[in-house]
Amino acid sequence: MTSFDSGQVVEARTQSIANSLALPCTGDKVYIAEDTAAAIALLDRWPEPVRPFVIGACSNLILPERIVQPCLQLGSQDVVFETIDSQNVRVRADAGLLWDSLVERCVGQGLRGLENLSWIPGTVGAAPVQNIGAYGVELSDVLEEVLVYDFEHASTRCMSLQECHFAYRDSIFKQQAGRFVILTVTLRLSLQRPFNLEYGEIRVLAEQERLSVGMVRDKVIQVRQAKLPDPGRIPNVGSFFKNPVVPLAQAQSLLEHFPGMIQYPLPGDQVKLAAGWLIDQAGWKGTRLARAGVHERQALVLTNLGKATQKDILELAEAIRRSIRERYDIELEIEPGIVAG
Ligand SMILES: Cc1cc2nc3c(=O)[nH]c(=O)nc-3n(C[C@H](O)[C@H](O)[C@H](O)COP(=O)(O)OP(=O)(O)OC[C@H]3O[C@@H](n4cnc5c(N)ncnc54)[C@H](O)[C@@H]3O)c2cc1C
Repeated sequence: MTSFDSGQVVEARTQSIANSLALPCTGDKVYIAEDTAAAIALLDRWPEPVRPFVIGACSNLILPERIVQPCLQLGSQDVVFETIDSQNVRVRADAGLLWDSLVERCVGQGLRGLENLSWIPGTVGAAPVQNIGAYGVELSDVLEEVLVYDFEHASTRCMSLQECHFAYRDSIFKQQAGRFVILTVTLRLSLQRPFNLEYGEIRVLAEQERLSVGMVRDKVIQVRQAKLPDPGRIPNVGSFFKNPVVPLAQAQSLLEHFPGMIQYPLPGDQVKLAAGWLIDQAGWKGTRLARAGVHERQALVLTNLGKATQKDILELAEAIRRSIRERYDIELEIEPGIVAG
C-alpha cells in the first residue's frame, strides 16, 4: 500500500485482467490510479523495484496466465475543450477514458479530425502507443502533444508531435516500452477541415451532399460492425499482423507469381502488401489449431475459440507465419503486444 500527503491511497491488488481475447490472466500486483494527480504521485514514489507495465483496456495485448511484473491502470477520465480560434479547438483528454467515448464527444460538438477513428476499442492513453489508424487517418494527424511520466527523467513532461516519433503502428512509446506512462493526450480538431473519404467503404460518402461529421462517424461504425467481429462475442485483438512492406523489385516479382496480389505503392520504392490477403490466399481463413482459430470472414483476425491460452494463440500465429514465409518469402510481424509471464 502506498499513501500520499494528500491522503490518497493506492493499493496493489492481485486480480484477473479482462482482455479482448478473453485469455485467462491474473496480475500479481495491479495498481489503479483513479486520477492523473494520483498517478503522478504514485509514479513519483513508485514503490516497486521494476517499472510498471501499463494496461489500458487490453484490446491489443496477448496476455499470459500470470503477470508477475507490477501493472498500472489509469482511471482518469476528464476531457477539456479549449477554443483556439473560430475554427479550431484544442482537446485534452485523460489516458483512462475510452477512446471511442472521446470520439463521440468530439463529433457531438461538430469537431472534425477523429471521425475516421470511430469505434476503435481501447483507451485514450494507449492510442499514441501504436499511433492508432483507420480509413486513411492516424492519430498523429491530429495530435499536438502528450503529457507523460518519463521514468528516465523521473518526472512528468510534455512531448511534442515530433518527439513521439510516430510511424505506421509505431511510436517512441512502443520503441522504448516501459519508459513512459502516458497521462493525457492533447489533440487539435477543427470545425472546418475537409473529410478524408478516400479509403474503403467510406468512399461512397464523397457523393453525399451536406455531409456532417456525425454522418461520417455513423458510416465508419456501420462498416466496422459489419466487417470486424465484436470482441464481446468473438474474442479477438483486431488485426493480428502488420501489413508487410517490401522493396518494389520484390513486389513486382511477387505479382508475377501471384497475379491479383493487393499492393499499395509507398514513397521510396517501397510497397505495402495486405497481410489479410496473403493469409487468406494461403488457405487459413476459418481454420483452427487447438483452441485458437482464424476468423471465417477476416483472415487477419485470430480468435479464441474458448478456453485458449496465450500459448494456443501464439502457436497458431507461428504456424501462419511459417506458411507465409514458405509461400511468399515474407516475414509477418505480430501487431499486438505479447506480454511476458
Ligand atoms: C476489434 C478490434 C478492432 C481494432 N481496430 C483497430 C484499428 O482499426 N486501428 C488500430 O490502430 N488499432 C485497432 N485495434 C487495436 C486496439 O484497439 C488499439 O491498439 C488500442 O489503442 C489499444 O488500447 P488499449 O487501451 O486496449 O491498450 P492495451 O491493449 O491495454 O495496451 C496496448 C499497449 O499500450 C500500452 N499502454 C496502454 N496504456 C498506456 C499508457 N497510458 N501509457 C503508456 N503505455 C500504455 C500497453 O503497455 C501496451 O503496450 C483493434 C482492436 C480490436 C480488438
